[in-house]
Amino acid sequence: GREIQLASRPDGWPTEQNFRLAEVPVPELQEGQVLVRNLHMSVDPYMRGRMNDAKSYVPPFRLDEALEGGAVGEVVESRSPDHKPGDKVLHGLGWRDYAVLDGRRARVIDTDAAPASAYLGVLGMTGQTAYAGLTKVAEFKEGDVVFVSGAAGAVGSLVGQIAKAMGAKKVIGSAGSAEKVQRLLDLGFDEAFNYHDGPVKDSLKKAAGADGIDVYFDNVGGEHLEAALSVMNKFGRIAMCGAISQYNDAPVGPRNLAIAIGKEITLRGFLVGSYNQYADEFAALMTRWMQDGLVRYDETFVDGLENSPQAFIDLMKGANKGKMIVNLGK
Ligand code: NDP
Repeated sequence: GREIQLASRPDGWPTEQNFRLAEVPVPELQEGQVLVRNLHMSVDPYMRGRMNDAKSYVPPFRLDEALEGGAVGEVVESRSPDHKPGDKVLHGLGWRDYAVLDGRRARVIDTDAAPASAYLGVLGMTGQTAYAGLTKVAEFKEGDVVFVSGAAGAVGSLVGQIAKAMGAKKVIGSAGSAEKVQRLLDLGFDEAFNYHDGPVKDSLKKAAGADGIDVYFDNVGGEHLEAALSVMNKFGRIAMCGAISQYNDAPVGPRNLAIAIGKEITLRGFLVGSYNQYADEFAALMTRWMQDGLVRYDETFVDGLENSPQAFIDLMKGANKGKMIVNLGK
């Protein structure tokens, strides 16, 4: 089968040269293992961090080995008591056509309830990030004014809709194009702006008006975080989810962090993996919101394993609306 290996570590923005498509033998199945033919794989911003040789909350990808990440596929052979050929599973060995792994690490998914790709986004890690970050980390409550950056992306688009579904007074989103801004308004955001149109602080002030903002869900960092601090109300809460503006470029700001003292603002970083105890609560709520039409989800599909490095690079540049997914198995 084919796999995508890390050929070299990116310095700044990743390029196609950092990746290599390789043909490798599919290993023989051991007792307890399953062979999975991957159907869809996820590309995610956090993978950029794993391409650096730096200590972090997940170990770096290894040079000349396959990358890893969320994937869904179909079991084609099983030596696990819990799996049979034809089962659709969610697991962590993306970036390859065929995955061999311990059955305990392949979760069977219900593709009658939702398409397989949804388990990589709205019903998976992405949706859980949005839900846990908003409700547990930022401690959202009814009547709050919420601002979310990266709002047309996978996590951000869900944050805004969950906030509306749970009774936000107002939801404001920022994104990188006029088309994305329009999409946010279609999804029910009250206010949306293109952060390329001017200083984020000015656009945010205008969108917030006299209400200010109570919660900021930060996917971006830098200028966005600075703007949010400046527009935030007393006792505002910030969920620090990501800082994509500095994954490939040098970090900037926030230069006004001291505002957090007088406004008594809480800034709280989080990792979705630390909120697994809310997985069932999340699944039940999200299923209902989707059935009630309160949460809709966008997906951007790219075809072919060979195009997955470019899909990852394009994701970092904003080519996606909603979840970026690579279709495999053709
Ligand atoms: P997205 O679908 O949001 O894709 C990334 C988006 O980032 C792009 O579409 C692009 O949209 C935007 N972007 C890129 N560069 C910039 C920039 N300089 N300024 C503003 N926006 C930019 O990805 P995800 O939804 O998967 O992830 C969103 C964030 O959440 C990331 O920061 C990620 O690292 C983080 N995350 C954190 C988790 C955790 O446990 N803490 C778990 C999962 C994700 P645009 O066109 O609008 O610029």
